[in-house]
Amino acid sequence: MTISQHPTEETLTAFASGNLDEGRAVVVAAHVEACSQCRSFVRSLEKAGGVLLGDLAPAEIGSDSLARTLARIERGEGKFVVPPRPAAPPDLPMLPTAARPYPIGRWQWMGPGVRWRAVGVPHKPGARVFLLKAAPGTTMPHHTHTGTELTLVLRGAFTHELGHFGPGDIDEADDTVDHQPVVAKAEECICLVAMEGDLQLLGWMGRLMQPFVRL
Ligand SMILES: [Zn+2]
Repeated sequence: MTISQHPTEETLTAFASGNLDEGRAVVVAAHVEACSQCRSFVRSLEKAGGVLLGDLAPAEIGSDSLARTLARIERGEGKFVVPPRPAAPPDLPMLPTAARPYPIGRWQWMGPGVRWRAVGVPHKPGARVFLLKAAPGTTMPHHTHTGTELTLVLRGAFTHELGHFGPGDIDEADDTVDHQPVVAKAEECICLVAMEGDLQLLGWMGRLMQPFVRL
């Protein structure tokens, strides 16, 4: 997988410090799973955070705390158990690990050649996470948004005014971007999307589809 489009440093920093809402965090985590470059960037931020914590004045602890901790370890208390990694649903083998703990809805029609499927990430009002599937060669409706949109390509590819996006690539857009993605002809394209605010479809096709788009 050759990844060439990454989240902004601002987004990665917010992710590493736990300041990203859960929807966008799932999409960024799914990219970081696949991208060694962003993984080392996030690790270096986490390390820097640890150094800051290390600079804090040490807190007083009781004189018997070491003995108590060792006794707990001997009794097997507080053992860290790695939770099992949930398997991907059989019809979505490409679903990143970060998105697997959430309930996934069924495919629903969104427009010609386009389907979507809800991903049940708890979110603040007006934000949502979903999978988007578009047939090869589909020209997506020209659109803009009232908030931010993070799109991670899971399969296939698309191109728009700002670049080419293949598997593992992230497309980060805000309300200043108005774009019209075109899906590559080779295969269908499946993306994981976290969107804040409303999708505003432009052009005749968009106006036709807008009443049906109930994400
Ligand atoms: Zn990356």
